[in-house]
Parts: sequence; structure tokens; C-alpha cells
Amino acid sequence: MNLSADEFVFKREQMVSGQIVRRGVKDQRVLDAMRRVPRHLFVKPEMRDFAYADYPLPIGYEQTISQPYIVGLMTSLLDLKGSERVLEIGTGSGYQAAILSLLAQEVHTVELIAPLASQAEALLKQLGYNNVKVHLSDGSLGWQEDAPYDAILVTASAPRVPPPLLKQLYPTGKLVIPVGGQGYQTLELWTQENSVWQPQEILPVAFVPLRGVHGWKGDEI
Ligand code: SAH
Repeated sequence: MNLSADEFVFKREQMVSGQIVRRGVKDQRVLDAMRRVPRHLFVKPEMRDFAYADYPLPIGYEQTISQPYIVGLMTSLLDLKGSERVLEIGTGSGYQAAILSLLAQEVHTVELIAPLASQAEALLKQLGYNNVKVHLSDGSLGWQEDAPYDAILVTASAPRVPPPLLKQLYPTGKLVIPVGGQGYQTLELWTQENSVWQPQEILPVAFVPLRGVHGWKGDEI
């Protein structure tokens, strides 16, 4: 069954109030962005009816689009006001990048899997998210070309924070990243205190692994 556009608007409102506001995300700009971005267009056609459900969905190549609440929470931790340059590691479907594009000046997003990068780039362009640039590269190295950033959001889990990411942030910047084992991790928010980067533990999460130079190499746990 195909749901009509109006039904998707209703489903998005239910998603925001029932999953995201209810769990404590208060940033109105984030909530508004999540009301606006058509999440169902970022999943496969056969998944559309589940696009607003309270869980992640497969997007192919063993990758997933994150649960809506996790997108809302991670985005709100960045506390974006509209003038920032933001880096996302792990473009995947492009959904998180679309949310960021409504909240910041400029978004760079890096993806390692070529077909995901090109699909996301085409969709973001088609939907008019013109301040997003998709880069096919190893995001565990960050994206030096457009550094420094006000905020970096990593949507794959790392064994530890990749050193290049902290180097590519302004001292006032923020890094949000899931850190831990390959099964479960802790979502961490890194900021500088007295000129030293410090993590704050937010909550337990389960992300797909970050690959690349500073990611998981293969079968480590
Ligand atoms: N933010 C995405 C979900 C990402 S899933 C969304 O909104 O849909 C994690 C993504 O990280 C996957 O697409 C995976 O291919 C990518 N990834 C894993 N390691 C990476 C690396 N080293 N550099 C760039 N992308 C990477």
C-alpha cells in the first residue's frame, strides 16, 4: 500500500511528538527540520511504509539509516544556530545530511561506499538541499579540504576517536560520535575544556562500524 503525501506529513508529526519530543529532545529547530525532511524518500520504495517507525532500517550494502530519535538526539547535541560549517562522516542514505542542511550554513558529508555516495548526492540535489556536498572518501581521516568545522557528526561506530577529526574542529567545536565495540557503543559528545578535548557520555547506542584507516579493520570485537 502506498501512503499519500498528507499521510506522510501526519506520520512525521507522530514521529516527532511520539518518539523524539517524548524522549526529551527540545531544540525546536531540530524538531522542525525533522517535521520537514521526507524521510520516506531516503529509504527503498518497499520500506516506505516503515520509514517513520521507531527503529533503523536497512539501506543496502549492510548499512542502515539511523532510528529517528537517534538522528534527533545527535543533531540536537551539536546545538546548531544556522551559521555553521558541519562535517558528517557516513552519508549513507543522505537523511542525516538533509536534516543538517536545514540547520547549518554548509554541510560536508563523507561516504566510503561509492553507490551510496552517488545515490545520496543525486537525491539531495533533486530535493534541493543545495548546501550539502557529498565526498567519496575515507571519513576516518575527516575531510581536510574544508576544515576547520564548527561541528562533526560521525554516524558509524569507531573503536576510538579518529585523531584527524579533533584536529579539523575549531577549538569551540563539537564532535558527536559513537565509540566502543562493534556491537554496542557509547554516544559521546567531545568539547574543549581548558584547551583540552573532553568526552561526555550521552547514552548506549548500536551503530554499524566505521571502516578506514582509523576505523575497524576486519574482525576485531
Ligand atoms: N547517516 C546515514 C546513516 C549512516 S550508516 C543516514 O542518514 O542514512 C553509516 C555509514 O557510514 C554507511 O553508509 C557506511 O558506508 C559509512 N562509513 C563507514 N565507514 C566509513 C568511512 N571510513 N568513511 C566514510 N563513510 C564510512
